[in-house]
Amino acid sequence: MIFFQTFPKLTKWLALVDDPRNKNKITYAPSHLLWLGIFLFLLRLGSKRKIKYRLSTEEFLENLNKLCSGYNQNVAHHDTVEYFLQKLQPEEPCVVRQKMINRLIRMKALEKYRLLGEYYMIAVDGTGHLVYKERHCPHCLTKEKDGKILYYYHNVLEAKIVTGTGLALSVETEFILNSDGKSKQDCELAVFYRMAKRLKKRFPQLKICLLLDSLYAAAPVMDIAEKYNWKYITVFKEGSMPERYDEFRRLKKLCPKNVIEIKDDKLVQKYSWVNEIDHKGNFFDVIELIETAPDKKTRFVWMTNLKVGKNNIIKIAKGGRLRWKIENEGSGVQKNRGFNLEHPYSQNETAIKNFYLLLQIAYIIS
Ligand SMILES: [Zn+2]
Repeated sequence: MIFFQTFPKLTKWLALVDDPRNKNKITYAPSHLLWLGIFLFLLRLGSKRKIKYRLSTEEFLENLNKLCSGYNQNVAHHDTVEYFLQKLQPEEPCVVRQKMINRLIRMKALEKYRLLGEYYMIAVDGTGHLVYKERHCPHCLTKEKDGKILYYYHNVLEAKIVTGTGLALSVETEFILNSDGKSKQDCELAVFYRMAKRLKKRFPQLKICLLLDSLYAAAPVMDIAEKYNWKYITVFKEGSMPERYDEFRRLKKLCPKNVIEIKDDKLVQKYSWVNEIDHKGNFFDVIELIETAPDKKTRFVWMTNLKVGKNNIIKIAKGGRLRWKIENEGSGVQKNRGFNLEHPYSQNETAIKNFYLLLQIAYIIS
């Protein structure tokens, strides 16, 4: 199994989780049960029951015993996995994931994908997780129309390291639950503040550039970035900060030299930029990219606290466009290509989170 070279200590990390079960009644070690959860996703089994139908073979048992360097006479039943994941604190698989990411960083596996040779690009994005017809737990979010509840759902906010080659590796997860009637924007921003704090705590030294959508074009987000010494590239729309957007338009006219145009036979890309717009004491630069193809014209605008100039604007804009990767390559693959992200692997609130986190671990391995 090739991942051994990359994560030789993974089983040890899994064995180190804080086991919440009664110590006298344990048949299966945490690593045995967690590996089953991970294989559920690695082998794209699609549902928990398949652990029983597909994995309880002599051959698999032998491999699992080798992997866990212990000995069990049987592969655990999926109900045993479920029971363990109902009790386990979701912080435990998060710590395992953190060790995996740190390992990838230390072995310099992600180094060549850094923005400007310096910053790990981390895309932040809210994504749908589970949808229910009936209320499933007290923390379900609700979709309403004309005062009627259409459905109940759970969402997650993900921070993922993204690369130009299409990797999107989960580094931090915040489950978006009942928002006490706040708007979607308030809800996601509040969740982001919690997530940012943990991300900083887990990776205090990491040089990070956040890739954000226009929801995050807001002073408190800029404050956080300055406080944590992070960079950001955020989609900049007129609606998010109308006065600053006007200012960008006015300044752009005053800086006709801040333009680069690149042509090939199919595409014309016109980059322009404006430096040092002040928003409540935080300064940012703005990049505009107008891309003209024979059949269509697309315009992108980003704000960033990276210092933009003619030497780096193309690379920074490329980073800005990578944010879509998290949807197409990250959540998209997890939903559509066999990881079955939206399948309810459990009804239990805690187990739901743990299954989700094991899926992220499986995705990093795969
Ligand atoms: Zn629920």
